[in-house]
Amino acid sequence: MSDRFLAGRTALVTGSTSGIGLAIAEALGAAGARVVVNGLGSAEQIDAALAAVRAAGAVEAWLEPADLSDPAAIEAMMQRLAERGAVDIVVNCAGVQHTAPIGEMPAATWDKLIAINLSAAFHTMRLALPGMVARGFGRVVNIASVHGLVASVNKSPYVASKFGLVGLSKVAALECAGAGSRDSGGVTVNCVCPGWVETPLIEPQIAARAAAHGGDRDAGVRALLAEKQPSGRMSLPSDIAATVLFLCRREAHNLTGAAVPVDGGWTSQ
Ligand code: NAD
Repeated sequence: MSDRFLAGRTALVTGSTSGIGLAIAEALGAAGARVVVNGLGSAEQIDAALAAVRAAGAVEAWLEPADLSDPAAIEAMMQRLAERGAVDIVVNCAGVQHTAPIGEMPAATWDKLIAINLSAAFHTMRLALPGMVARGFGRVVNIASVHGLVASVNKSPYVASKFGLVGLSKVAALECAGAGSRDSGGVTVNCVCPGWVETPLIEPQIAARAAAHGGDRDAGVRALLAEKQPSGRMSLPSDIAATVLFLCRREAHNLTGAAVPVDGGWTSQ
């Protein structure tokens, strides 16, 4: 059994019915946390996610099905969680993407991406951080993106939301920096900024590149990586989860306000 350093802690992972969020929920469960799974999906997908988190070692795992585009639903979720006990770790991972030039970006799509990718994190943080500060321990890890550090064409709401998430996290990190102690672990707020990660989110972008190579998916993946990610390798969701897990350790008490790239060198160029 792996190091159960999160025994007794409760972690909320938004967007954990799929992809990176699911891998994070599994990793936190394996480290001993009670895990609150949140996200959309079919009943089968949600059951499979909960089963995977329990199989990874979570002492308890349950679903909070809040639609994060709705602030009232987030408030109700955080209220229910507070009634069950303290939330020690919040990982804001839910995110959506839509690619189009700015002149063709539907206004409603802008509003939706900002609501899910940015405003939802503000709402979970404003409701969770005061309790963390009072208890002297807390971790907020926001899954931003390389697109919180550099831009790409055709991603106006996505890039705006992720730059916003990096800025929001730095403000919260400063406001919470003095809470707790080295022994208690303090309250930290960080972003992880992945480059390409193999999940359903990027399948449409792989398919677009594959179409230019006679439908060859592997060629599409290579083309996507060649544009931006010098390592030439996709990350796995579990690679991102390993970084999140480190940020949750007591020893990371002074690692706060950071935007940690996991991008194969993308943002070093
Ligand atoms: P994914 O599509 O596999 O998962 C997205 C998750 O968000 C799902 O659980 C989905 O149900 C949830 N979600 C979407 N809308 C929601 C809503 N309204 N309410 C509640 N949950 C909602 O995508 P992923 O690749 O795992 O992405 C996770 C995060 O990582 C996103 O924030 C994304 O921007 C970021 N990211 C992904 C990559 C990549 O290459 N895949 C790179 C950088 C950053």
